[in-house]
Amino acid sequence: MVRSSRMPSCQKASGLLCLLSGALLAAASVGSAQVGDRVPRVLILYPYDERIPATTIIGESARARLLEATGGKVDLFSEFLDLARFPEKRHIDRMARYLAEKYTDRRPDLVIALGEESTSFILENRESIAPQARIVFGGFDSATAATLHLPDGVVGALMEFDIRKTVEMAIGLQSSAKHLAVIAGSAEFDKAWIAAARQDLASVSQNIETTYITDLSIDEFVERAAALGPDTIAVVLTVLRDRTGRNFIPRHSLERIAAAAGAPVYGPYSTYLGHGAVGGYVSTFESAGAAVAGLAIDALAGKPISDVTVPRTYVADARQLERWGLSEADLPPGAVLSFKERSLWEDYRTEIMAISVFVLAQSLVIVSLVLERRRRAAAESQARRRLLEVVHLNQSATAGALSASIAHELNQPLGAIRINAETAAVLLESQEPDLKLIQQVLADIRDDDQRASEIIARMRGLLKKRGEIDWQEFDLNEVMQSAIQILHTEAERRSVVVSTVATAQALPVRADRVHLQQVILNLATNAMDAMLQASTGERRLIFQTAVNETRENVELSISDTGSGIPRDKLGSIFDAFYTTKPAGTGLGLSIARVVIEIYGGRIWADNRPEGGAVFRFVLPLAQRG
Ligand code: ADP
Repeated sequence: MVRSSRMPSCQKASGLLCLLSGALLAAASVGSAQVGDRVPRVLILYPYDERIPATTIIGESARARLLEATGGKVDLFSEFLDLARFPEKRHIDRMARYLAEKYTDRRPDLVIALGEESTSFILENRESIAPQARIVFGGFDSATAATLHLPDGVVGALMEFDIRKTVEMAIGLQSSAKHLAVIAGSAEFDKAWIAAARQDLASVSQNIETTYITDLSIDEFVERAAALGPDTIAVVLTVLRDRTGRNFIPRHSLERIAAAAGAPVYGPYSTYLGHGAVGGYVSTFESAGAAVAGLAIDALAGKPISDVTVPRTYVADARQLERWGLSEADLPPGAVLSFKERSLWEDYRTEIMAISVFVLAQSLVIVSLVLERRRRAAAESQARRRLLEVVHLNQSATAGALSASIAHELNQPLGAIRINAETAAVLLESQEPDLKLIQQVLADIRDDDQRASEIIARMRGLLKKRGEIDWQEFDLNEVMQSAIQILHTEAERRSVVVSTVATAQALPVRADRVHLQQVILNLATNAMDAMLQASTGERRLIFQTAVNETRENVELSISDTGSGIPRDKLGSIFDAFYTTKPAGTGLGLSIARVVIEIYGGRIWADNRPEGGAVFRFVLPLAQRG
């Protein structure tokens, strides 16, 4: 971990004096970094091994910047001093001897020392490893720099830490927080951090009670963090080592603590972001690397250089804000928010817009089609209801027209019943009544009653009202016979001879029986009307059924010997209100056509060569037989 402890201000002041005097002498040192006609050699010293992200990020960033600025014309060397695991002086001396030997023929022109340990190391061993080199450092703050008693000309990119600003950011996010828990481990570095934090946070807020949680085992840290309430701000400085002596990469210890914490956790390092920290006020290690490289580039170019401060910024992790229900709006101005999942809308705005417009347009078309379909269905159902009403009116009219003959027909069985009843009464009054004869008479009464009932049933059927079509499968011959039954008395009354030529086999069709019967009655009554002028012996009404050759349709025809139809009227007689009769409505044939078409058929009229008209309709055969 890069050293960042804060030291007393007197040392800070002496450090500044050192830096000032160093800056004055910088020009002379720059001049000594002669590279002649070869590319400059730069040695980057890492204090630990390659796993410590803080220093490796600074180093990688510096390398990238150097390569970019020189167009690759730089010889870069990296050495990992591994001083965390080998802090002993013997190791340090061995390392120094090794590097002095290693670089005998390629003395660096510039050394970039990352972290406090690397800087101390190179300062102590400068003569043997890189006697002519300029030294720039990075990765620690000005207070630490002051403790190093840096010689003239050694300058660096200072990473200043301001733990107070991290806490202020936390208070901004958690305005109702009552407690502040500051956590640090047992390493020297950790302890120095705590000491600096105690000083800096002494007067952070009167409403907030501050607790320092330090010198515990990692499990105890986790336990304590878990017990914190959401009205607490937790700040993890570093846990490089715990009380039991276990070493940690600080972001890993933070990760364990933050995962279990009962309160939002903040920290002063950018490397904590993505490992459970809500955020903090940090210098990024990338920008520290870039700043160190900037100094190195200027130094190699012979320009005067002096200490720079690595820019700092507020950073936050959007996922942690969400986890703790904290608002992005409460972040300090300019805060950099990471891990914010871009919404689909942000990523595919144009595509979504285009698709939405398309879907909307499609939906509108679909909705309008559905509405249109509903309107049509409603209109169709209304039209069907009206039609059924009209057909019923037509039925009533037919019943009215036939009522005289039906009443006449009904009179016959009723009259016979009366006569037979009187006969039975007379027979019963005799001395020795002929019981056999009386039985016969009573049987006749029963038969006549049956006949009367049938006539009434037919009449009722004729007047049956339909709310909906009653689809049935039935034999067209049967319906034809029932219609003939209804009008045979009327035919007799009008001296019309009715004859039938029916197919031997049944003619199944699917329709409403009452409707087809009505069509037949309409055609037959029209035919009888047309024969009024014919002489009485010449009035013939012929019903005929047939199946067409392909056995797909059945045909029913009604022929008469009447007046026939004028040729030019053959097309218009089916139009509504076309009539040639003084009391006609002109509706019978138009209703017949609508009914036949509803059941998938066709109706038409012709004149017969021998005189009179013939009306035919075809309907689909329900079963192919
Ligand atoms: P309406 O019977 O009330 O006149 P229709 O629609 O049933 O109404 O008939 C329309 C017209 O078609 C009749 O007025 C008549 O002129 C003619 N017509 C119908 N059937 C025959 C037929 N069998 N012979 C001659 N003309 C007919």
